[in-house]
Amino acid sequence: MSKIEVMQGDITTLATDAIVNAANTSLMGGGGVDGAIHRAGGPQILEECRKIVARQGGCPTGEAVITTGGKLKAKYVIHTVGPVWNGRPKDDELLTWAYENSLRVAVENGVRTVAFPNISTGVYRFPKEQAADIAIAVVQRFLEKESALEKVIFCCFDAENLALYQARLSKS
Ligand code: ADP
Repeated sequence: MSKIEVMQGDITTLATDAIVNAANTSLMGGGGVDGAIHRAGGPQILEECRKIVARQGGCPTGEAVITTGGKLKAKYVIHTVGPVWNGRPKDDELLTWAYENSLRVAVENGVRTVAFPNISTGVYRFPKEQAADIAIAVVQRFLEKESALEKVIFCCFDAENLALYQARLSKS
């Protein structure tokens, strides 16, 4: 059975070990999924983000950090920063790193089930088809070499992303 699942919904409601946040480099919250996660998870998440900022000055694009899930059902939130899309080859690379580093941080923290939003496809304007290709390729490659992860969920918010992921994963 595939370890990859696709669903449509609000990622803040999921009971996976960790959910991934499409954060920004400040780690101080924002709109979209970032705002929804901080609202649902409560102030403890921002408190831990502040400590990370004090220690390392934010989170560079493509990297990932982990905090408590606060009041969420998920134990952890993994905050990663996708690129703002500018149409450069570097954008693909940075989105790859965002997924890869999130998965690495998950495994390092004993996470066995993790859910991703469609990173960079909101305010950061990354083309959805291209982002879906990258996300699926990174996750499939990671699952081939890392057996500790039991489930990776792509939690799509909009119907367009849901259709893109379903089409790609039904073929693989
Ligand atoms: P980015 O700045 O990385 O583009 P956004 O939060 O603007 O981040 O959008 C990333 C994706 O998250 C978009 O596809 C958006 O539809 C989706 N999204 C927004 N709110 C939620 C939510 N509560 N659960 C899951 N996905 C969400």
